[in-house]
Amino acid sequence: MHKLTLKELSAQLQARKISATELATLFLDRIDASDLNAFLHVDRELTLAQAKVADSRLSDNNAGQLTGVPIAHKDIFVTRGWRTTAGSRMLDNYVSPFDATVVEQFNAAGMVTLGKLNCDEFAMGSGNENSYFGPTLNPWDKRAVPGGSSGGSAAAVAARLAPAATATDTGGSIRQPASLCGVTGIKPTYGSVSRYGMIAFASSLDQGGPIAKTAEDCGLLLNAMTGFDERDSTSLQRPKEDFTRSLNDSLQGLRIGVPKEFFGAGLAADVEAAVRAALSEFEKLGAKLVEISLPKTELSIPVYYVIAPAEASSNLSRFDGVRYGHRAADYGNLDDMYRKSRAEGFGEEVKRRILVGSYVLSHGYYDAYYLQAQKIRRLIAQDFQNALAGANRQCDVIMGPVSPTVAWDLGDKTNDPVANYLADIFTLSTSLAGLPGMSIPCGFGQGEKNGKRPVGLQIIGNYFDEARLLNVAHQFQQATDWHLREPA
Ligand code: GLN
Repeated sequence: MHKLTLKELSAQLQARKISATELATLFLDRIDASDLNAFLHVDRELTLAQAKVADSRLSDNNAGQLTGVPIAHKDIFVTRGWRTTAGSRMLDNYVSPFDATVVEQFNAAGMVTLGKLNCDEFAMGSGNENSYFGPTLNPWDKRAVPGGSSGGSAAAVAARLAPAATATDTGGSIRQPASLCGVTGIKPTYGSVSRYGMIAFASSLDQGGPIAKTAEDCGLLLNAMTGFDERDSTSLQRPKEDFTRSLNDSLQGLRIGVPKEFFGAGLAADVEAAVRAALSEFEKLGAKLVEISLPKTELSIPVYYVIAPAEASSNLSRFDGVRYGHRAADYGNLDDMYRKSRAEGFGEEVKRRILVGSYVLSHGYYDAYYLQAQKIRRLIAQDFQNALAGANRQCDVIMGPVSPTVAWDLGDKTNDPVANYLADIFTLSTSLAGLPGMSIPCGFGQGEKNGKRPVGLQIIGNYFDEARLLNVAHQFQQATDWHLREPA
């Protein structure tokens, strides 16, 4: 049962072949038996209470397609009743009085929450090693990182501890862990998913999205989690759409842009081989490959690592020991209380970003760093528009690797923040441009010690082209079975 897709589980529930309670129990037992540290908070009683409600909806014929299907939430989404930590000591024992909009939407659909998922502290990281609660392990090879920051989400789906999970992507945190764990994830166009109750890291970049086994499942989840929310000032007002509407369209004549900057030095040979093989598979499905150029790709690292910390330094100023979270036990005056609470509550990477962010925003450096980064951000977005939009557009979608390497070993990059930042080279530009992007499993590479580790293919589209991305991914998943492979 745990091997089934969300779509299949839904059919089982509708046909009364299994109840929501049985299904939730099955996954809770798997979670209990797992040693991946993917979950930070599990509460059988809360889960089973939700399952019971779902069961009565199912028997009252008051159920939708998602009713009774289990899901787990990245611990960045606040949940009433469940602890929400953002992977930080700062929020170690925090219980939100309200649900994030995304959680509210899935609850309303009747989905059953299995628990809260581990992540890098405040979603800052690429390996899930920045969590105060310890790293999540990669189910394919427990010596490896699962990717980050949504490492718990990707690992839980890969290990079949949950059929679906929520995640957030600020600079790659849905696509990169999905890639490193061999599952499917999509970050929609910025503004599609409400950020209300999603603990803020960098507000102009943060975007929620789903991780699941298949593109089709991601489409079903997007149907529930997108939509206008007046409580989020950057939420987009758009007509509701069915993201699964074009899953079965043919790829005949599809033009796939292959950016030459995504295949240069730094790309590991095993990743390149798997991605190129996937591109040939698309040719067999009728698509044409077009070489394109995204010349500003390289600049996305310095630009992101100015803008994201700048916004983080501002967003995280609310954690002052007064309004939220951790407060130092001993302190002198008020300033001392702020200082000690923040020194104790935040981890090293978070502190590093607050320092960098405060620096680039400070008088005298604002023009040189922050403003400059904003200008280049605009040029990065223009690169994509030159390829994907206008009368001279060169392609319908863009494809390339998600990560320059397969998952690295735990501990390998912990003392080298820049090495972590460099691993984001292929995901940051999409985030800076606000475009939708996804990762689908497309093969395996070799870990350094010869473990089998997954490779993801990145698919990027123009604004609001999620249905097409899912179509492209679905057609690939009909022709191949990488997405069905499971860790031992
Ligand atoms: N790895 C990037 C960072 O550390 C992206 C994180 C994210 O998307 N949340 O900031």
